[in-house]
Amino acid sequence: MRIFKNRFVARVFLTSFIGVHVPLLCAGGYVLTRSSGIDWMLLTVLTSATVAGTLGTIFFMHLELKPVISITRSLQQFAETRIRRPIEHRSDDEIGELAAAAEWAIETVDSLLRKLEEEARPDSLTSLPNRRAFIDMIAQKPLASLALIDLDSFKSVNDTYGHEIGDLALRNFSQILLSELGPSDVLARWGGEEFILYLCERDQENARAVLEEARKAIAEAEIIPQQQITFSAGIVAMSGDIDTDAASADALLYAAKKAGRNRIAIPRDTIEQRPDELLDYAPKTRRARSSTKTT
Ligand code: GH3
Ligand code: MG
Ligand code: MG
Repeated sequence: MRIFKNRFVARVFLTSFIGVHVPLLCAGGYVLTRSSGIDWMLLTVLTSATVAGTLGTIFFMHLELKPVISITRSLQQFAETRIRRPIEHRSDDEIGELAAAAEWAIETVDSLLRKLEEEARPDSLTSLPNRRAFIDMIAQKPLASLALIDLDSFKSVNDTYGHEIGDLALRNFSQILLSELGPSDVLARWGGEEFILYLCERDQENARAVLEEARKAIAEAEIIPQQQITFSAGIVAMSGDIDTDAASADALLYAAKKAGRNRIAIPRDTIEQRPDELLDYAPKTRRARSSTKTT
């Protein structure tokens, strides 16, 4: 059975005490019990040596154990509070190497945790979930449809009206699109002026019909007073691999852009090579209508 099972420092002191002082204590016992009588002088020397040895051992063992205690406290404090406490008393020996390894581990874990937290935060501009949060959210959901959405000719909004109006357009766009979706759908900002949408509709045509309603609503809405905002999208049935699905949806989005923008493409459009049909999805936009009126 181990004495001081949960107390490393106490065990080290006890071991040192026994190792160093047992010979002195035996000699003291012998001096006290021998037949020729007690040698007080020798006993005094032995007692003084024992006390001095004990105090010296405590002092030097304390110095030796200080860095180990400091490493333990730093790791403990970081694990409990995420506060980084510097490891004191560095040396060039094995304990110094242990301290350096512990510091490296704390720094690495801290920066990885910060990165994960940063990635999982809602997007600061639109308050939508960001890419990381979206991936985590849809991992819990059944396979359905995934749409990649990109605002049309958005660069011209920034170029013409400035970045602040561009930001306002992104914020308003995301709120209006969100209001067009069901409670089980998940909309997130994929990056820049691209959004990703989990549509709980598995059937492609149905998924397109849902997003088509949203597309019309956006095309009708006054996202910013200066200019009409539209989007194009590609929709795929989810395979379970987000990278593959996003890449496939991106290819369809590209097809939708190529076909004239402000439209939604699903795989069947490209498999059956019906670019005309893609063009059929081109809506009669507000501007198109107004220009028709004026001509
Ligand atoms: P396309 O129809 O082909 O998508 O054309 P586009 O102009 O939208 O595409 P492009 O990729 O050339 O431009 C995207 C623009 O989106 C460029 C960039 O300035 C703008 N953008 C991306 N993120 C933000 C943002 O957070 N705020 C603002 N204001 N603009 C952004
Ligand atoms: Mg884009
Ligand atoms: Mg764009």
